[in-house]
Amino acid sequence: MSTTTSETRFTTHINDFMDMVKHRSPGEPEFHQAVQEVAESIIPFVESNPKYKAAKIFERMTVPDRVIMFRVVWEDDQGIPHVNLGYRVQFNNAIGPYKGGFRFHPSVTLGTLKFLGFEQVLKNSLTTLPLGGAKGGSDFDPKGRSDNEVMRFCQAFMTEMYRHIGADVDVPAGDIGVGAREIGYLFGQYKRIANEFTGVLTGKGVQYGGSLIRPEATGYGSVYFAKEMLATQNDSIQGKTCLVSGAGNVAQYTIEKIIELGGRPVTFSDSTGFIHDADGITREKLSVISDIKNVKRVGIADYIKSFPNASFYPGERPWRIPGDLAFPSATQNEISGDDARHLVMNGCRLVSEGANMPTTLEGIEVFRQAKILFAPGKAANAGGVAISGLEMTQNSMRLSWTRDEVDAKLQEIMARIHTQCVEYGQEDGFIDYVKGANIAGFIKVADALLAYGTL
Ligand code: NDP
Repeated sequence: MSTTTSETRFTTHINDFMDMVKHRSPGEPEFHQAVQEVAESIIPFVESNPKYKAAKIFERMTVPDRVIMFRVVWEDDQGIPHVNLGYRVQFNNAIGPYKGGFRFHPSVTLGTLKFLGFEQVLKNSLTTLPLGGAKGGSDFDPKGRSDNEVMRFCQAFMTEMYRHIGADVDVPAGDIGVGAREIGYLFGQYKRIANEFTGVLTGKGVQYGGSLIRPEATGYGSVYFAKEMLATQNDSIQGKTCLVSGAGNVAQYTIEKIIELGGRPVTFSDSTGFIHDADGITREKLSVISDIKNVKRVGIADYIKSFPNASFYPGERPWRIPGDLAFPSATQNEISGDDARHLVMNGCRLVSEGANMPTTLEGIEVFRQAKILFAPGKAANAGGVAISGLEMTQNSMRLSWTRDEVDAKLQEIMARIHTQCVEYGQEDGFIDYVKGANIAGFIKVADALLAYGTL
């Protein structure tokens, strides 16, 4: 069959498949987008591997094992009650207990969490650790809330959530809006209700079972992945101008690792806009960013007070600033097709997604056509969940590894993920990391599902 005929056939299969997904999950555009991105790699692969096709493995993988939804009622500091929605999407536990973060953000909907849970299944498989995939959270907005209000919300949330999770069942972690403070409140409440001290959450403080390097792992991992990609072209991060978005956990440790490897980060962003610091962000400047976001918890315009040479662009994203490497580390769909064209036009050679699905489908196509090094989040940001997996191991063994030991394991895991992407994504001297990550992540889960029979 000619290439064009088979491509047309695949397009028809993909469109039919997406019609079914959309019919089953109306009003969930982010979920449709995530499935479409994966379907474009997996459907042609499944067509040439009939055992997966006959057993409808990919179709099964697009439907969560279960969705839990509940009411969370909590009181603010004035004694006024508030009602939020709580969720856990337990997507797939074929290769290990459910694992994936909680997101607390007003934009959270079932569709957002389904997209994140679906991605998490493939990402966790890629880490080579025995982890299933899940995601959860709430439309609660921690911004502007006192510590006591956040604590009461977390306690109310866990009062329902605790019955659905467990160290061998489902092990949540942090995500947007859920950092060390929230994990502490959530774990404290779990421990109190369940009357057990187990590794039921990861991202815990080191004093109570957390792993060294877990806070750093996603950001560091995304830069290690970029290092691996550049090495395929005998290049390195040294001297490269780097565009980073976000100013939270992932962005801060991405900037730290870029500086350590000799790169020059010049941007960061938050929901208010972005900062361009053409002089380069140093360690000293990074500690100011951490103070603004982790202690003062205000908008990044505050940076200009300390560094007046930098510029603040309200309501904009950093993708029109010229740079060699881009590390989107804020949120989904933050690189549009137009943004992607600007990046390519300005000489950007590599994109490593620290965030989940930060690039739109149109943006991905622009990067693919330009044949730049493009690492999808499920590969590039898998360092966080990988170290969460190692936190679970340390909890079970009741020991703690040193910082250097965990960092070495993180580098090894990122290198292994890279090798798998190359194995399945190599085509005519170009590495399609999207295809490589999707197929490598799919195979392990698909084979486990086949082994279980019709379930
Ligand atoms: P944080 O809450 O620590 O930081 C999120 C950052 O993104 C903040 O700067 C926030 O701005 C900004 N942001 C959030 N929503 C929007 C929006 N709609 N528009 C513009 N900016 C926005 O979260 P993380 O750093 O943990 O997560 C960032 C990304 O990385 C997410 O996509 C997450 O899913 C992904 N990720 C995180 C992992 C982890 O280990 N934490 C693991 C793997 C992926 P503001 O402060 O103004 O709200």
